[in-house]
Amino acid sequence: MAQPSYVIVGAGVFGTSTALHLITKFPDASVTLVDRNGPAEPSRVAASWDWNKVVRADYRDATYCALALAAQDVWRQDPLWAPFFRQSGIFWISPTAFASEVVGNYKKLGRDTGGLAEVPVEEAKKEFGGLFREAEYEGVRRVLVNTTSGWADAKGALRRVTERAVELGVRFVTGEVEGLVFEGEKGEGACVGVKMRDGERIEATHTILSTGAYTPKLLDGVAAATGRDEFLVGERMLAAGVTTGLAQLDDETAKEFAGMPVCIQENPPHRGADNGSLPLTADNKLKWWGQTIFRNTQTMPSGRQISAPPAPSDYAQWKVPDTLIEDIRLANQFTFGKRGEAWEIKEHRICWDAWAPSGDFIISPHSAAKGLYVATAGSFHGFKFFPIIGSYVVQMLEGTLEPDLAKRWAWDREIPDVSKKTFWPWTELKDLM
Ligand SMILES: Cc1cc2nc3c(=O)[nH]c(=O)nc-3n(C[C@H](O)[C@H](O)[C@H](O)COP(=O)(O)OP(=O)(O)OC[C@H]3O[C@@H](n4cnc5c(N)ncnc54)[C@H](O)[C@@H]3O)c2cc1C
Repeated sequence: MAQPSYVIVGAGVFGTSTALHLITKFPDASVTLVDRNGPAEPSRVAASWDWNKVVRADYRDATYCALALAAQDVWRQDPLWAPFFRQSGIFWISPTAFASEVVGNYKKLGRDTGGLAEVPVEEAKKEFGGLFREAEYEGVRRVLVNTTSGWADAKGALRRVTERAVELGVRFVTGEVEGLVFEGEKGEGACVGVKMRDGERIEATHTILSTGAYTPKLLDGVAAATGRDEFLVGERMLAAGVTTGLAQLDDETAKEFAGMPVCIQENPPHRGADNGSLPLTADNKLKWWGQTIFRNTQTMPSGRQISAPPAPSDYAQWKVPDTLIEDIRLANQFTFGKRGEAWEIKEHRICWDAWAPSGDFIISPHSAAKGLYVATAGSFHGFKFFPIIGSYVVQMLEGTLEPDLAKRWAWDREIPDVSKKTFWPWTELKDLM
């Protein structure tokens, strides 16, 4: 029997966390982490590469609430992670009963609710020095204020944790994976590794795809090369995009916003999905994400139509159409009203992620081939689990994942009907151009 070896495709949070947990648990194992972008490149296509990401445990779903609390404990306490976490608090504006649902989850899980409050709107407007007094509160009764939530320096954490994994023995390979290698000519045998664009093969007993938004396209190519449609992603996930934008604040405004928490606004349906803003980066940049989510359906070389990131190697992430620049301007207006009008929002980016209809991750063997696994996807909420998600991937590889999680994160699981979903990437990017 060959010693177990691992090739992980994709060095976002899913892949990097998996590499770290594998090498920590099996220090002598061969673990290779492959990504088209090197860990120190100034710009990467990973959804996980970002100025900052929200690290919250404010979930309606008690399972994700529990997982996020466990992740937050690591963000707060572990010397590897703590330098990147900021406990700024969160200010969550929702026209639903979200605030009481979150408080209920904390109670159910036996966690301290001392930092959480359900604040009536008029009082909430005075919180945090009145930073959100001009926000839109249509249909909102209570705002959730959770002083224990926060955010993380995403690219800083991604870079440092990759470095740590390499220090512990992970091999990092920069390059593009073009396809998979199988024992049988037609992909009927076990998956035994990956084929790089330059023709090199990296072999392993376990191949794990953590390829984010690119996953449907990669597997479309595998299906075409093997003639086996079982590899296709089908309705399990699709590449979806959201726009982000940053404004450089002047020193005086930055001082006023120094104590800003994360702000998330769940919108009434006519205003789109949610939008949000994150506290200032070290160089005083304020970031928003917009309320429009979209797909990018294209014809693959196979002839199939699927949503995938734009073809250029940088996913054309910096080419943001005016409609989506306007989307960020609106997010600013919804949150800061007139006071945000003077800020010039300059850096816009489209961030591509793999969206699953249930919002759940896929952490599972791929049913089409032995030795092939998938660990990615969700609904734009995976970053915060960075410190712990790899431990669940390792459990999945070992077959010890708790049955409820194994079922929830399975490759083959029930797919909810999305046709009635209001917030789903119905819009095509080309229609926003
Ligand atoms: C706008 C936006 C905001 C978000 N905000 C938050 C937030 O505040 N908090 C939160 O918890 N989550 C947030 N998320 C979700 C979070 O970013 C994702 O869940 C998470 O980053 C996904 O990680 P991943 O490892 O699956 O994919 P990615 O981070 O996208 O990584 C995939 C990697 O695979 C590589 N790759 C793909 N194909 C190949 C190939 N063929 N060969 C080589 N390499 C390849 C890519 O280069 C990339 O580095 C947000 C997402 C978006 C889009």
